[in-house]
Amino acid sequence: MGNLSMQHQGKLFRHWIPGQGEVIANVAEGGAEDINRAVAAARKAFDEGPWPKMTAYERQKILLCFADLLEQHNDELAALEAWDSGKPYQQAATDEIPMVIRLMRYYAGWADKIHGLTAPANGPFHMQTLHEPIGVAGGIIPWNFPLLMFSWKVGPALACGNTIVLKPAEQTPLTALVAAKLLHEAGLPPGVLNVIPGYGPTAGAALASHMDVDKLAFTGSTETGKIVLELATKSNMKPVTLELGGKSPFIVCEDADIDEAVELAHFALFFNQGQCCCAGSRTFVHESIYDEFVEKAKQRALKRSVGDPFKEGTEQGPQIDTEQFKKILKYIKSGVECGATLESGGERLGDKGYYIKPTVFSNVKDDMLIAKDEIFGPVQTILKFKDLDEVIRRANAAHYGLAAGIFSKNIDTINKLTLALRVGTVWVNCYDVFDAAIPFGGYKMSGHGREKGMYSLENYLQVKSVCTPLVNPAWL
Ligand code: NAD
Repeated sequence: MGNLSMQHQGKLFRHWIPGQGEVIANVAEGGAEDINRAVAAARKAFDEGPWPKMTAYERQKILLCFADLLEQHNDELAALEAWDSGKPYQQAATDEIPMVIRLMRYYAGWADKIHGLTAPANGPFHMQTLHEPIGVAGGIIPWNFPLLMFSWKVGPALACGNTIVLKPAEQTPLTALVAAKLLHEAGLPPGVLNVIPGYGPTAGAALASHMDVDKLAFTGSTETGKIVLELATKSNMKPVTLELGGKSPFIVCEDADIDEAVELAHFALFFNQGQCCCAGSRTFVHESIYDEFVEKAKQRALKRSVGDPFKEGTEQGPQIDTEQFKKILKYIKSGVECGATLESGGERLGDKGYYIKPTVFSNVKDDMLIAKDEIFGPVQTILKFKDLDEVIRRANAAHYGLAAGIFSKNIDTINKLTLALRVGTVWVNCYDVFDAAIPFGGYKMSGHGREKGMYSLENYLQVKSVCTPLVNPAWL
């Protein structure tokens, strides 16, 4: 890590364990000047090669070697992720890091399959398109899934032959630095990937507004998304992919098996300490099963094991930092003040670290802040509905449109909801199922564009049309 962040401006930021409030590392704090140098390195590596000029097969081998190295370091990366973000180690070791590996192999597979088309010519011409790398890409990522978000940006960018400057979240820079080291071990030429830890308004803003960055991919809050979009537009109009916030409905229909629905709705909200952009944060339950559902959801929340991320069986660790911790407790207070019924939790757990008791609210109304804002914490809000048209209207009333869950055995109900919900992903009788091949992104204020799958390649490619006469060029 030291080597990777050696040539910075000289500033360091202290890095805390969210669970214990103890310093674990001092990390180089990159500022605007470091971003300038990183972009210059990425530009040189793009313009002079060898990365964009080497064969796609050579690039593929390096990306596959990187995936192998990640696999060898799976447990170490999972431990770093747990220290850095407070998430349960088991979750990182068995779910997240394997997903990163799968994603890198998926995009390595694409590296030698990216090509243009031959178009039918209107006359004696050979007409074709070339799919070329876009140039220097910039990536700005959040803290909730640090290495996974790294891979969503770096995987497709490198597979397409680009170079990249990536700014991890200030709360969680560690795994991006280690992954960069592993990529260089795998044979990535110097300057192709540049990781600059730093704060948003300094390093992040410098990257978003840089005149020599050709494309920006951002994941974070909708509020910051608006800022980076403006910076990108006002500088060189670079295209921007935005993966933003959400307030996703999880709809439990009257025919649902209640026990199964309770378990899935619990997972949809509480997974990763409730810090998921696509958290099923509005649990809509049909009125005929509402009371039983609420009682069981409360019992499930009371049983949730919260504590040390490294202890076996821990389901929930601490929130990421004091800011999020305070924000969540403030939302809980507002829910109580607005008249929602607090069924469980509602307060801090213990007196050290940012632990919050799993919280369940019933009798939640659509106009309450807890039903409108993205809380990004372990707070389940349960709302009652009468019929499908009503729940569709209410689910779609949010400014967000990232994801939705449907729980039903009735195919007509499932089809009606799937078609009507204005969201980027619909999970039917499941939740948070991700795969490298399945695109992810939002409608409305949840973002622009799609990441993952073949859709993400378009974010990192330019299309060049080439027209060549097949006969005497004199008559052109
Ligand atoms: P955030 O917007 O505060 O920060 C995200 C990144 O933006 C960080 O790297 C931060 O340093 C940077 N940043 C902050 N201010 C900036 C500025 N002025 N200019 C440039 N960069 C700036 O978000 P967060 O709190 O880190 O993450 C939580 C948010 O991310 C939630 O809203 C969540 O829904 C969203 N998220 C979305 C997805 C998705 O795929 N849609 C995935 C994960 C998280």
